[in-house]
Amino acid sequence: MTNKEDIVLKNQITWVGEVNRPLTLFRPCECGCDLRYGNTGVGFLTASDPQGNGFTIWIESEEVFQGLAREVEEY
Ligand SMILES: [Zn+2]
Repeated sequence: MTNKEDIVLKNQITWVGEVNRPLTLFRPCECGCDLRYGNTGVGFLTASDPQGNGFTIWIESEEVFQGLAREVEEY
């Protein structure tokens, strides 16, 4: 059985790489490569700082995605 903490951790990814990524909302790539880690969201929100410390948060609700789309740039 999966507890809530596991789900939260699965959907919040931190990484080091690209610097200064603006807060951006993406749809998953159509080829499915973004889903290879088992994420099943309708899209994701991502950003990074000048040191390249980034995060990606998967969004599971289309309603939440649409709300975010009004606030940030969507690709
Ligand atoms: Zn792809």
